Amino acid sequence: MIQRPRGTRDFAPKEMESRRELEAAFRSVAERHGFREIATPIFEHAELFTLKSGPNVIEEMYAFEDKGGRQIALRPELTAPAMRFFVNDLTNYPRPLKIYYFGQCFRYERPQSGRYREFFQFGAELIGAPTPESDAEVIGLAAAMIRTCGLTEHQIRVGHIGILRSMLKEAGVPPEQAPFILQKLDKKVYEEARPLMQQAGMSDASIEQVIRVTETTGGIDVLDSFPGEATDYLREVFGILEAYGFTNVKADLGVVRGLDYYTGIVFEIDAPKLGAEKQVCGGGSYSLTELFGGEKVFSTGFAIGFDRVLLALEREGVSAKEHKVEAYVIPVSDAMRHQAHVITASLRNAGISADVDLMRRSIGKNFKYADAIGARFAVIVGEKEMAERSIALRDLSSGEQILVKVEALTEEVKRRREVGVRVRCGGEN
Ligand code: ATP
Ligand code: MG
Repeated sequence: MIQRPRGTRDFAPKEMESRRELEAAFRSVAERHGFREIATPIFEHAELFTLKSGPNVIEEMYAFEDKGGRQIALRPELTAPAMRFFVNDLTNYPRPLKIYYFGQCFRYERPQSGRYREFFQFGAELIGAPTPESDAEVIGLAAAMIRTCGLTEHQIRVGHIGILRSMLKEAGVPPEQAPFILQKLDKKVYEEARPLMQQAGMSDASIEQVIRVTETTGGIDVLDSFPGEATDYLREVFGILEAYGFTNVKADLGVVRGLDYYTGIVFEIDAPKLGAEKQVCGGGSYSLTELFGGEKVFSTGFAIGFDRVLLALEREGVSAKEHKVEAYVIPVSDAMRHQAHVITASLRNAGISADVDLMRRSIGKNFKYADAIGARFAVIVGEKEMAERSIALRDLSSGEQILVKVEALTEEVKRRREVGVRVRCGGEN
């Protein structure tokens, strides 16, 4: 038997229904915030990612040479492709340009729960200017998406990478060494970060000061210990978020982010129920356009780990409604098969999901099958009844059976069917 590659997944119908429902909820929140969808290729020139994505992403990249000798990579993330697209074709759009995307990414990681080699990101980028308003708009979108999908237990933490970057610079760390230190600080592995900082020539005092910053987290007042432009800026962002109704946002100067291109605010959303793989969203402000041959333009964006949000919702017991066939049409004899197909088509054309016996089963076996697939109604096409243009409609949940005229069938099914109860994605935000 051939198995799927390690770190990849197949999705059964029930899972796809959950996934599509979450996707639709995210999409609708993004569009209500004025973001519009884009799509880019699954593979790109590897250089797009090696330029600036940072040591983590490069180590994990699925890269190969194609038949034409080009260095190609499966995309490990979507911000760099989105910005490449912007520089190539979208610079004439009015700004701010607000875009979102949904698609799979590939990273050669050690697979575990919430960590796959093929996974999905739902993300957004706002391309325009480095203002607290832009940053708050993007954080607000991520927060609204997470809230709307029904994930009650989550934490939003916002920091400013400029603080650590300028501390490293002032302590004399060469620019090319900073990403490796930041990578260790991101994961809070101080025992590995310390020697790197020592090798980069930092004094013990400045090393301890850096570590103290990464441990600063709490209400907005924790920013008071680090007065300066960056914390003033953060206070403005928090003020706008409050106006948008988000008061559950924490300050956390330890947010570093694995990707190397962030320059200003950085933020993360965690779902504590997920344990080690708890980060469901990461984002921040950056400028990449000048690297890809364009003018320098500031952007703010984020990527939500779509698969992890689904896992977190599952842990909270939130589930999507399964899409089951509403009406199952059973011909009582071979002579009734043609009529059964006509009736099935009329149900389908009226927007009712309908199925018909395709296996030439007996009536009893057909009822068993209808039950097994969870059909709501059985429509029984009998010879005696059809002679009078009537048909038996049985409600399989109550067992009640009535006789209706063929012409009245679709209306009767519509009247009786349960209005789809959406378990997830309420209307707010
Ligand atoms: P982590 O620290 O968990 O490896 P990251 O910093 O590499 O995350 P980003 O590059 O910011 O993550 O990607 C954004 C989001 O995508 C993450 O917050 C996470 O939810 C999700 N994600 C990242 N890598 C994977 C993966 N291998 N499998 C599933 N989801 C992932
Ligand atoms: Mg990672």
